[in-house]
Amino acid sequence: MRNIPQELDTRLMAQEDDRDYDYNHCSEAGWVTDCMRRLILLRRMPPKSADVDLSMKRRFEEGHRQEVLMRGELKDAGFSILPVGPDSLEWPEYKLKGLPDDLIYLDEKVPNVIDYKSCSPYVFKEVKRFNRWEDFLKSKYHWIRHAPGQTMLYIPLLKQNDYDVDPEASILYFKDKDSGEKHQVFIYYDDPYVQILLNGLKKVNEYVENKTNIEADYTDDCRWCDYKGYCFKDEQVLRNGLETINNEEAERMLIRMKELEPSNEEYKKLHDQIRTEFLGHNVIIGDFKLTTTDYNQSTYQIPPEVKEQYKQSVQRQRFNIDQLTKVL
Ligand code: SF4
Repeated sequence: MRNIPQELDTRLMAQEDDRDYDYNHCSEAGWVTDCMRRLILLRRMPPKSADVDLSMKRRFEEGHRQEVLMRGELKDAGFSILPVGPDSLEWPEYKLKGLPDDLIYLDEKVPNVIDYKSCSPYVFKEVKRFNRWEDFLKSKYHWIRHAPGQTMLYIPLLKQNDYDVDPEASILYFKDKDSGEKHQVFIYYDDPYVQILLNGLKKVNEYVENKTNIEADYTDDCRWCDYKGYCFKDEQVLRNGLETINNEEAERMLIRMKELEPSNEEYKKLHDQIRTEFLGHNVIIGDFKLTTTDYNQSTYQIPPEVKEQYKQSVQRQRFNIDQLTKVL
């Protein structure tokens, strides 16, 4: 019997990445203020297609499908949409490339950049609270933090390439993939912020040209970054202060758990088993760091009409399993 999901995953993994790693890209420019080292590594040591996480590839693919649906819905509703491309636009001075999703006419004069962003209900709930570009910088999701910089950079990039576009505002257009609800935010062009990004990209170009890089500095974003193993492999940063213990059975479970990630039933069972055994401990087992951190959770009790008065702060424990190295 053929296994359809497996065949589709294999096909997806075999697809070549068509990104041009000789250039900086508008979609990544926000990393200038988060981790410029990542931008330099992307240029100097592009990730190999086979090393990119399958779940990440699935998400990108799904994002593209949603983009087509969102565009089609706007066209069906009578909006005038102008495609850009098909090739990416270039700004040689900054070695910058980018391709806005579309331009949209909201009146008869000049079009605005529109960028489609489909997201989970959880992320949508967050962005629904955002109305100004600065709000996005507070998000814990890097792709949300970087979205305003991406759309702002499209404006000078389009001008460089002789497109007529509203210079003052672009649109981030979000869709909740679950409910289909939409949310739009006008991103007003902020020249000082754009200059910070462009100056950062200039520095990235210098580092790439000189074949040098910035020291790695561990942040929350490193947890999922493909370069984590490279940046911290030989350092104690990920291990600092934690005892390394030998527990072959637990290590076998952790390795097997990683193989089964993200959705297999066995994964959940092993995770729960390991959590039960190690919750409250901070240890290293083989290539895995097991940590428990406290956090406060607010709960509300009935009656709902007065629930604010019954708000309680309860201390709980958060348990994380991080793989220390990921081979590039
Ligand atoms: S692992 Fe961390 S320091 Fe290294 S490139 Fe990624 S985000 Fe930057």
